[in-house]
Amino acid sequence: MSDKSTSSEAAASPAPASVDAGVVVAPRKIYPIVKYGDPILEKPTVAVKKFDADFEQLTEDMFASMYAAQGVGLAAPQIGLNLRVAVVDVTVGKNPEAKIVLANPEIIHAEGEVREEEGCLSIPGFRGYVMRPQFVTVKAQNAKGESFEIRAENLMARAFCHEIDHLNGILFLQHLSMLKRDLIKRKIKKLKKQGEW
Ligand SMILES: [Zn+2]
Repeated sequence: MSDKSTSSEAAASPAPASVDAGVVVAPRKIYPIVKYGDPILEKPTVAVKKFDADFEQLTEDMFASMYAAQGVGLAAPQIGLNLRVAVVDVTVGKNPEAKIVLANPEIIHAEGEVREEEGCLSIPGFRGYVMRPQFVTVKAQNAKGESFEIRAENLMARAFCHEIDHLNGILFLQHLSMLKRDLIKRKIKKLKKQGEW
């Protein structure tokens, strides 16, 4: 999900080596975000099986890439990887404790309905109203492979659903009315023709 209103915080995200709480943090790789039209965005992902140092590094690079793009969530297919992992931080880097890695996530409970506007880093410039559960409980593994359950509501619940959709090859466009979806697709086609996508 993208959230343009928080761009000022996201601009402060670390790119080169930086000192954080006295610990020198390794430089982070900022991945370019894959845009709508790339088939990887519409393919289901493969489960994470290897939880090693490389995987932990990947999740940190995903956070860095997400902050650089001013998003609150990022799924592996959006950086061109067919892997069942997403990262979410609804504070866009303001609170390090709000960083959530969702490896092999599943929604195990959903409740209520909220219709809100949402966007996607892979579909920049377009937004649409999507009905999502108000509350969800997600079961997942963290970057070390440890299982956990997390209950979320409103924006975080929406972010979880949006990212888990990505891991299943589903984009928010699929939740829009056919009319609205076709309108956005037509506009993207035009942008592509003009070399602006
Ligand atoms: Zn998205």
